[in-house]
Amino acid sequence: MIRAMTIIPVGISILTTVMLVFGVLILVGAVFLFVIYFAAKRQLTRFRSLLPASLIGKLTQDLVSGPFSREDQQPVSLSGMDRIYAPRIQNDFPELNLNELKRRAERLAFSTLAAIGNDDVGPLTEQHGLYTSQVNQYLERLRLQGQREQYQNITIHRVVLSDYQKNEGTCRIVFQLAIGARYRKTGMAQQTQAEQDALSQFRFELEALYVQDPDYADTPDSRSLALNCPNCGAPMRSLGEKQCPYCGSAVEPVNKNVWTFSRFQFQAG
Ligand SMILES: [Zn+2]
Repeated sequence: MIRAMTIIPVGISILTTVMLVFGVLILVGAVFLFVIYFAAKRQLTRFRSLLPASLIGKLTQDLVSGPFSREDQQPVSLSGMDRIYAPRIQNDFPELNLNELKRRAERLAFSTLAAIGNDDVGPLTEQHGLYTSQVNQYLERLRLQGQREQYQNITIHRVVLSDYQKNEGTCRIVFQLAIGARYRKTGMAQQTQAEQDALSQFRFELEALYVQDPDYADTPDSRSLALNCPNCGAPMRSLGEKQCPYCGSAVEPVNKNVWTFSRFQFQAG
């Protein structure tokens, strides 16, 4: 008994002892991680109610089978303020058919993605210079980067009113749309740079502008419109300008007392 106890430490070298200790530590660590992984997987259903749906959706999607492999679409969040703004707009513009303006916004958003995909502003359902020049600038930027964007299976899921501003001389309504589409971005040599096989949702923003007084020049309001010359892209100083102050080309005047779509914004991919 006494002999055996004294022999063991002598018989095993220091190196073997160290390796044995590390081996045991690694084994314990592995079992620990394994237990944590399964506990977390089981708890995921409970976290769903606590975390934002978009985040947990992305997490589970990545855990299960990598990004973009599932066919479901994570809905984008829109800031819908219809209940606040719709009555105000109807009060200020009793003759305006707000639902019809929404339909116009849907058609324009749809045709904007089609125009971007075709690399041509032809499909746009509203051909006002303000809007067309912005789409042209978007396409020009893609061309300079040697890229092309394509959107297929476009569906409009939801349209909301997200902002309404009534200023002296101009009024603005901002619509937000949740659009589902298959998105593909290709480079010069047609090689794919970014792709979403599954339908994914985008947030698309459209601004409708109503001008009562185009000569309402050089106010913070008209400056923030960020209008650009359709020919050279120079910023315009006011809505009433009929000629570009830089290149001298004629600028289509903003129609008075008509709702005109003036701006779009969206994040591709
Ligand atoms: Zn110009």
